[in-house]
Amino acid sequence: MLLSDLITDKEDHFKDADALAEAYITIHNNRPLDMAIEIMDDHKIDRITLLDENEQYAGTLAKADIGRYRDTLNDKEKLQIFSGEASECRAIEAKLRDAKATYNMLGIAFCEIIYVQDMQIIRWLNAEAMMTFGVNIDDPIAKMLTPERWDHLMTLFNAHGGVEHERIEVHGRIYEVTLMEVELLGQRILKLFLNDVSELVRLGDELRRSLERTIEHIAHYDALTDLPNRLLLLAKLDHTIAHLKRQNEKVVILDLNLDHFKDINESYGYAVGDSVIVQVAQKLVSVLGREDVLARVGGDEFIIVLEGLEDVMKSEEVVKKIQALFENSITVDGIDFKLSASIGIAIFPDDAENGELLLKNADIALRRAKDDGRNNYCFFSSEMSVQLFERILLERELRRGIDASEFLVYYQPQVSLITGKLIGAEALVRWNHPVMGIVSPDVFIPLCESNNLIIPIGEQILRDACFQVKEWKEKGLFEGRISVNVSGKQFERVDVVETIKAIIDEIQFEPHYLELEMTESVLMGNPQVFGEKLIELKALGIEVAIDDFGTGYSSLSYLKQFPIDKLKIDQSFVGGIPHNEQDMAIVKAVIAMSQALGFRTIAEGIEKEEQAEFLKNFGCEQGQGYLYSRPLSTEKFEEFLKALV
Ligand code: C2E
Ligand code: CA
Ligand code: CA
Repeated sequence: MLLSDLITDKEDHFKDADALAEAYITIHNNRPLDMAIEIMDDHKIDRITLLDENEQYAGTLAKADIGRYRDTLNDKEKLQIFSGEASECRAIEAKLRDAKATYNMLGIAFCEIIYVQDMQIIRWLNAEAMMTFGVNIDDPIAKMLTPERWDHLMTLFNAHGGVEHERIEVHGRIYEVTLMEVELLGQRILKLFLNDVSELVRLGDELRRSLERTIEHIAHYDALTDLPNRLLLLAKLDHTIAHLKRQNEKVVILDLNLDHFKDINESYGYAVGDSVIVQVAQKLVSVLGREDVLARVGGDEFIIVLEGLEDVMKSEEVVKKIQALFENSITVDGIDFKLSASIGIAIFPDDAENGELLLKNADIALRRAKDDGRNNYCFFSSEMSVQLFERILLERELRRGIDASEFLVYYQPQVSLITGKLIGAEALVRWNHPVMGIVSPDVFIPLCESNNLIIPIGEQILRDACFQVKEWKEKGLFEGRISVNVSGKQFERVDVVETIKAIIDEIQFEPHYLELEMTESVLMGNPQVFGEKLIELKALGIEVAIDDFGTGYSSLSYLKQFPIDKLKIDQSFVGGIPHNEQDMAIVKAVIAMSQALGFRTIAEGIEKEEQAEFLKNFGCEQGQGYLYSRPLSTEKFEEFLKALV
């Protein structure tokens, strides 16, 4: 608020000022005192707070002082009375000190202010500064600041035209200093703000120390279970290895991963998932020895370090104990979770010579344990790392291949064994690799299933096959159904039915010309849920065939309930015709069962006329195999179709 404002608009401002029993005016020209006095007289205020041109507190002016000085002092001298010596000022000064304490706590500067003139003489200072430093007007600044400190400030001032937030120590306290040049009453004066930050610095140090401790803890321990994390584990492991007491002592690493844990997170949320993890951690601790280390190194991945084992086979006992832990389910929020774990095992010094590599190899063994079916454990072997390397290379190639659209559909005809006519085709994926040429799915499908690349590839095959078949139908070349293989990984997806529907809608493909092939082991993996999905597919008009029938273990009761249209007799049994009695017995039984349940039957892998004959004689209606045609590229299959018309 400027003094001129006060003067032109006195009434309004001083209503508020009265209430406060004080007024703030800003010194902004060389006649401030007269004006301040005038205001006080007019409004019967007996003290007034003065602010400098930066709206900073510059002193308090009391009426009692004015009488004493009013007529005798020149402006420069009048300025000195701002220092607030008058007794009425004390209350306000105290208030300001309180405010200062609060400000200090908040780290906001509220300062001792000192004006220093040439010869480094203090020309004016506020009461704060006077009290704190025990200096007075006309004292040399050297009375409070050592010449070295002052020189240091002046050097900074000359270099930057000002000093800001520089910390200096005065009388054992730490001040943050701002030094600037101002013009006051026609003179160049240096204004020194000193903000006591000692408390802040002390608090800061304490805070920093406790923060450092916290950060240290966060860096080394897992927040959820408070178990050591990977970093601390590695440190401990290296320490253990370096300090092994006896030559023949071994260190065994168990890398443990919960099976299907992601489903819990996805279905019940992360809070439930977290509780499960905490309980698992507690269970694990209960079976370990005092020397053993348990660390959590990932969402559902734990590492156990078993020390000082002379017989590594002892570790198998620990593994068995761990597996036994999961026999009872874990309950969270009244929900029972039946869990199992897969474990990879690596041993020092047999499998690796340092902690890092040991963990890596345990992880490789863990993957193998998972691949071999869950709830398993597996010891690391050196061939595994070679296989893993190849697998990583292949995976990288696969991703590139997907981006480069290298996956093609081949078509293999399906025929009626009775009429010999074409009734459909199976879509079979091929990888048209720039160097390797056409790659068989047996090489890459298993990997695609374990890394989920089967999802994009499977969708693409479905889309391409439907698109192509629709075109052939429009050209009048093809009448039957197209069979598309669906992997377990695809069928597990919650949105699999929507995805399939979206694809056929997009292409405007008639659903009853689409047949999906799924192996019986896929369906038996989760019969309830998958049964519902089959019903939804059926409702869309899509047909379902069970692939490789006879190789898995179908539960007949489920088979009866599932809305299945067709059983596909696996080629391994067909290959046994006409010499292998057992295969032939199975084929006959499968056909009989399929008929009894009202399904159609197709046999795959028919290479010989006599096989076709045998199958037909026992009631199998359809066939597929090299006898009729190998799987053909789009162009070749189109030629094949044209030759039929
Ligand atoms: P599958 O579904 O059992 O496919 C039949 C396999 O038998 C095909 O091998 C086919 O080329 C082969 N085959 C057909 N007739 C004969 C025959 O007379 N004799 C012999 N020895 N073999 C015959 P392919 O194309 O190498 O496919 C292998 C497997 O890869 C398939 O077995 C299927 O499980 C999978 N697969 C192929 N394409 C796809 C796909 O698009 N998606 C998914 N998820 N899996 C696919
Ligand atoms: Ca198939
Ligand atoms: Ca098959």
